[in-house]
Amino acid sequence: MSDGFVGLGSNLDGPEERVRRALNELDALPRTRLQRASRLYRSPPMGPRDQPDYVNAVAWLETELSPLELLDCLQELERRQGRRRTRHWGERTLDLDLLSVDHVTMATDRLQLPHPGLADRSFVLQPWCEIAPDYEVPGLGAVNDLARLCPGPLATPLEFR
Ligand code: ADP
Ligand code: MG
Repeated sequence: MSDGFVGLGSNLDGPEERVRRALNELDALPRTRLQRASRLYRSPPMGPRDQPDYVNAVAWLETELSPLELLDCLQELERRQGRRRTRHWGERTLDLDLLSVDHVTMATDRLQLPHPGLADRSFVLQPWCEIAPDYEVPGLGAVNDLARLCPGPLATPLEFR
């Protein structure tokens, strides 16, 4: 069993509902269960400003899948929610990033672990800190410390789940 952390984001076509649905879909993946999910957060877009705010969350999975098998599943869920590749950091119906798995570090074309750039992303670290503050991100430190040090705009929890 591995602990895997997934960052969810959406800013198109009913983003709250899409993120909630994706959390259920993660729980339904083979040899995987959802251990904990953060609340949903709202955050301003990274990259182009002329797009809607994002809804973000982080999921903690317990899984027997390898990191690459898990990435395959995440990309399949993105496709099923109608993701289209548009501009870099542009709007999307669903983005599922594999943030980190256990103590794994790897850097291949398809998969980098931990996910590059997570230390600069408050919309990842704030929800992550809510569910796993003591998790040590390989090479970076505890989620709690990373969240405290992270610059950038605040993500705010949505009032209702
Ligand atoms: P972004 O999330 O940066 O907007 P995409 O979701 O379009 O970009 O992902 C681009 C590529 O990043 C994917 O083809 C995937 O293979 C690669 N990738 C590398 N490392 C990871 C990771 N840890 N999680 C998700 N995708 C990753
Ligand atoms: Mg992505």
